[in-house]
Amino acid sequence: MSASLTLYNSLTRSLEPFAPLDPAKGVRVYSCGPTVYNYAHLGNLRAYVFTDTLSRVLTWKGYALTHVINITDVGHLTSDADAGDDKMEAAARAQAKSIWDVAAHYTAAFKQNISDLNIRQPSRWSVATDHIAEMLDFAKRIAPQHCYELDTGLYFDTSTVRDYGRLAGTQDDVREGRIDPVAGKRHPQDFAIWRKSPQGEQRQMEWDSPWGKGAPGWHLECSVMSLKYLGAPFDIHTGGVDHREIHHPNEIAQNQAWCGCNDTGARFWMHNNFLVDRGAKMSKSKGGFTTLQSLIDAGVHPLAYRLLCLQAHYRSELEFSAENLAAALTRLKRLIMAVTALEAKAEGEGTAVALWLERLDEAVSDDLGTPRALPILDELLADKKLSPADRLATLVAFDEVLGLNLRILTREALRLRPANATLTAEQIGDRLVERQQARLVKDFRRSDTIRDELAAGGVEVMDGDPLGWDWKPAL
Ligand code: AMP
Ligand code: ZN
Repeated sequence: MSASLTLYNSLTRSLEPFAPLDPAKGVRVYSCGPTVYNYAHLGNLRAYVFTDTLSRVLTWKGYALTHVINITDVGHLTSDADAGDDKMEAAARAQAKSIWDVAAHYTAAFKQNISDLNIRQPSRWSVATDHIAEMLDFAKRIAPQHCYELDTGLYFDTSTVRDYGRLAGTQDDVREGRIDPVAGKRHPQDFAIWRKSPQGEQRQMEWDSPWGKGAPGWHLECSVMSLKYLGAPFDIHTGGVDHREIHHPNEIAQNQAWCGCNDTGARFWMHNNFLVDRGAKMSKSKGGFTTLQSLIDAGVHPLAYRLLCLQAHYRSELEFSAENLAAALTRLKRLIMAVTALEAKAEGEGTAVALWLERLDEAVSDDLGTPRALPILDELLADKKLSPADRLATLVAFDEVLGLNLRILTREALRLRPANATLTAEQIGDRLVERQQARLVKDFRRSDTIRDELAAGGVEVMDGDPLGWDWKPAL
C-alpha cells in the first residue's frame, strides 16, 4: 500500500505524517479502556470502533502492531477530577456485590460487545488492579520531586512539569470551574496520585502504601501500564475526546515526571469525538443510555452500529437516532445483497485488484477516512468491468479494514429476532401470507388489521421493499 499515512495529533492540533518511532518494534498503541462499573453505552463503544479502525489500517499498511487496552477497575471517581466516590465502590454498594464480581460481570459484557462489533482483540487487556505494585513503584519514584501529601492523599504538583495542559489547550486559561476543589491543593489542576482511605472507613479496595492505606488515583494506571507493556515513548495513545481535558494531560504530566524529561510518553495522542444522543444524553453514570445489547434485543444487528460509526469520521460528532441506525441497517443489508448476487455469478477464485486497493488505501491513509472509503466500496461492487470473482476478492481485502463481515453475513443472519417478539418467524410468515390474500381480494381493512397486529408484536411490514425483506423489526 503506497499512500503515506497521515494522522491527526491532538498534541499539535494538526495532521502529521506517521512513522513508527522504532520500526523494529512495529507500532505500539495504548487505548484507554472502559471503567467496568456498568455496561458500556454505545458512545463508549464508538471509542473502540475507532481504535479498531486504527489498528486495522496500521495492519493493512503492513505494520506489526502491539495494542494494549486497559480495564479500569479502580480509581475512576464519579467526577473526572478528584472529588466524589470511586465508581466501582459506589456500584458495588448499590448492587450489594463485591467489587470483584461487579468488575468481572461488566468486563465480560464489554468483551462480548467487542466481539459482537467484530473488533479485533488487542494484543493485551491489562487490568488496573493487577498493577498496584508497579503503580506504587512509579509513585515512589516521582513523589520526591513532583508530589505533596495532604490528609486526603498524595497529589501531583502540576507546576513541576513543563507545559502542563498543552494537550487540552488550557495552559494559559485553566478552567478552574471544571475541577472540583480539594482542600489544600496547591493548584486547582493538581491531581491525586494516591487517595487515602477516609479515617474509620473500611473500603473494599485498599492497599498499604507509604502514604497510608488507600487506592491509586485513576490517571496513574495508564502511565504505568503503557510504560510497562509498550516502553516510553511509544507511538499512539487513544481515548475519547473527553480525555483530552483532564485524564491525558495528567498522564502526560506523570510521564514527564517519570522520565525527568519533556516527553509526553506517546508520539501521537488521538481522540475520537462523541456519539451524541440529542434525545437522552448517553451517560453511564446517569443511567440513561443505550447499550449494544439493547439494540440486539430490538432486532438490530450489531454490525449496523459499526457501519453507522464508519459512516462518520472519527473526529466528527456523530448523532445517534433510531432513523440513523435504521438507515445504516438498510445500507448494510444492501451491501450483503450485492455480495450475495456476486457470489451467485462468480466462477472460480478471483484476485484482488490493485487499482481498487490503492483507492481504498488513499482514503483510509488520510486520517482513517472511512466515510470516503464506503462509497468506494459501493463503486467496486457495481464495477461491471471487473469479473464477479475479482470484485469479491477485492471486497474481502477491503473488509480487512472495514470489519463488516461482508462475506460471512447473510441476509437472514442480519435479521435478528427481537428479544421481546411474541411471534416466531414461522408465525410472521403465516400472517404475511394471510395479509397477502386479504389484499388480493381487496379486503384492505383486514390487511391493515394484520399489519397493526404484527406491529404490536414488534414486526414492521414492508410493502414492496426493493431489497426483498417483507418485514423488519420495528425500531
Ligand atoms: P469510560 O468507561 O467512561 O472510562 O469510557 C470509555 C471510553 O469511552 C473513553 O475513551 C471515553 O472517552 C469514551 N466515551 C465516553 N463517552 C463517549 C461518547 N458519548 N462517545 C464516544 N466516546 C465516548
Ligand atoms: Zn487512560
